Amino acid sequence: MTDFTNKSVLVLGGSRGIGAAIVRRFAADGAKVTFTYSGSPEAAQLVAAETGSTAFLTDSADRDAVIARVRDSGPLDILVVNSGIAIFGDALEQDPDAVDRLFRINVQAPYHASVEAARQMPTGGRIIVIGSVNGDRMPLPGMASYALSKSALQGLARGLARDFGPRGITINVVQPGPIDTDANPEDGPMRDLMHSFMAIKRHGRPEEVAGMVAWLAGPEAGFVTGAMHTIDGAFGA
Ligand code: NDP
Repeated sequence: MTDFTNKSVLVLGGSRGIGAAIVRRFAADGAKVTFTYSGSPEAAQLVAAETGSTAFLTDSADRDAVIARVRDSGPLDILVVNSGIAIFGDALEQDPDAVDRLFRINVQAPYHASVEAARQMPTGGRIIVIGSVNGDRMPLPGMASYALSKSALQGLARGLARDFGPRGITINVVQPGPIDTDANPEDGPMRDLMHSFMAIKRHGRPEEVAGMVAWLAGPEAGFVTGAMHTIDGAFGA
C-alpha cells in the first residue's frame, strides 16, 4: 500500500477489468478518484458506489470530450489512461471505420489526455498509460491494428517524457500480458495458446497490474520516466 491521501486521480476507462482494479487500488490507498466509462453505466455506478469515487460518461473515441474531462478535473496528481479496445480478424476484411475508432481510443485519447493533464499537473505528477506486451511482441494474426496502437504508446511515453521532465512530471507505459478480464477471460478459447508462450502459465489478475500502476504513481518512482514496464508472465520474453 502507498499513501495517496489527498491525491487527485483520474482513470480513463475505470468501469471494468484492469481500470476498475486501478480505481479500487487508488481509492483504498486514500486518493480522491474520478473515472470515465462509455458502454457500461451499471458497472460504473457499482464501482463508484463501492469505492466512493465519481464516474463520468466520456467516450474515449471523442477527442474533445476527453480533453474537456481532463481539463474539468482540475489539477491532477495522477492520470491513468486505461481505456482500450481490440478488434480481431483478417486485416483485409476489417472495417476501416472500426480500425480508425480503435486508433482514436488507443492512441489519440492517451496523447491528448496526457498533454491536457500536464497543463495543470503539479510537480511530482504522474501519467501512466496502459499499453500491452503486444507493443513488443505480436505472435498471432488478426491483431495488427491493436499491436500498432500499443507500439505507438512507446513513442508517446518516450517523447512526452522529454517534454514533461522539466515540469517534474513522469510518464510511463504499463504493458500487461494476458490478464483475466471481460476482454480476455482466462476460461476463453485462447487460453492454452496464450499460456504456451508464457513462463508463468496463468492469466494475470487486474489487481497485479494495479499494483504496478500504484508503484509508478508513488514516491519511489520519481526517477522512472519514458519507460515501458511489462507484466506478462514472460509472454514476451
Ligand atoms: P475490458 O474490456 O475488460 O475493460 C475496458 C475498460 O475500458 C472498461 O472500463 C471500458 O468501459 C473502458 N473503455 C473501453 N472503451 C472505452 C471508450 N470508448 N470510452 C471510455 N471507456 C472505454 O478491458 P481490460 O480491462 O482487459 O483492458 C484494459 C486495458 O488493458 C486496455 O487498454 C487493454 O488494451 C489493456 N490490456 C489488456 C490485456 C488483457 O489481457 N486483458 C492485456 C494487455 C493490455 P465501458 O465498458 O464503460 O466502455
